[in-house]
Amino acid sequence: MTLRALDLAAPAVRSLSPYIPGKPISELEREYGVTDSIKLASNENPLGPGPSARAAIQAAVGDLGLYPDGNGFALKQALMRHHRCSMESITLGNGSNELLVMIAEAFLTPAVSAVYSQYAFAIYAIATHATGAMKRAAPAHPEGHRMALGHDLDAMYKLVDADTRLVFIANPNNPTGTWLEAEPLRRFIESVPPHVLVVVDEAYRQYASVPNYPDVAEWVAEMPNLIVSRTFSKAYGLAGLRVGYALSSPEVADVLNRVRQAFNVNSLALAAAAAALDDEEHLARTVELNRAGMAQLQAAFARLQLRQYPSACNFLLVDCGKPAGPVYESLLRRGVIVRPVGGYGLPNHLRVTIGTAEQNERMIAGFREILQGS
Ligand SMILES: *Cc1c(COP(=O)(O)O)cnc(C)c1O
Repeated sequence: MTLRALDLAAPAVRSLSPYIPGKPISELEREYGVTDSIKLASNENPLGPGPSARAAIQAAVGDLGLYPDGNGFALKQALMRHHRCSMESITLGNGSNELLVMIAEAFLTPAVSAVYSQYAFAIYAIATHATGAMKRAAPAHPEGHRMALGHDLDAMYKLVDADTRLVFIANPNNPTGTWLEAEPLRRFIESVPPHVLVVVDEAYRQYASVPNYPDVAEWVAEMPNLIVSRTFSKAYGLAGLRVGYALSSPEVADVLNRVRQAFNVNSLALAAAAAALDDEEHLARTVELNRAGMAQLQAAFARLQLRQYPSACNFLLVDCGKPAGPVYESLLRRGVIVRPVGGYGLPNHLRVTIGTAEQNERMIAGFREILQGS
């Protein structure tokens, strides 16, 4: 007897395409027989965790025989100090990815819809699809716009109707690097009807030193339909531990906690995240390294005459001017992993994470050899 598992799956799951993550270094080295590779594909912090997070992880190892604190009390205390918010407004997640899935699970059904932008972070579509809800992707700003490929809030607003329950906004957005300014974003959240929750995903906010970038966490107290999601995976350098959090009204947090697994954040992650939050020195070093690396890469891509997009993140989107697949493959053979974004409908583009000066130089040398043969 053969088991046709796919036929047995829920209809929405049957048609779900899984997320394709950046290629891990170990996989590249296994498949291509290269060594000494670098990964500039998943927007990780090239410095890794800071010294206080490392120390907190070491100190927590002895307790690994016990279940973690399912309520995450100590991390929530640190977050309360950091955001001057109440315990009841915080929901912890196994990475912010899990929070996005929890939000979809809690608020979406096949009878309602979620709105997001074309070129928005892929997880919004996946999390929505899995619930069977309708997916409404608004056209992004066109080429030529000063925020080309970025979220067009007016276009998104037009897709909001009586059936809409969620709007996903990435600020700044991955894979485009684009961002939204405070005023239009505030007006958007204030103008959607009260049956619509707006999720503002701020995975890259620590890197966003752009004018009029909003501090949306400060709006939560006055906006009951706003959910902010943050992560320790990017600027805090803890991607491997999987921890993020959402800030919302206590009522929304109560709903999210009903779908949350009892021990969804592990004890090393809880300890490291609390320590990382207070390590402003490591964060400052991270942001400065990124600023310098962005200047280095922007100058290099300009010399290579590759079109690039403004970015408020720790990555750049570049247009190879031809199908990016062969460029990606050639970089892999040189031990450099970047991120193809064909799945986003950008077959000529690559997304490259900003690394250390040395890693950036190695990636640029690869581009130069591949595109100019020198
Ligand atoms: C990386 C990323 C996340 C998710 O990161 P986690 O590791 O799950 O916290 C969320 N949103 C965006 C836009 C991202 O790029």
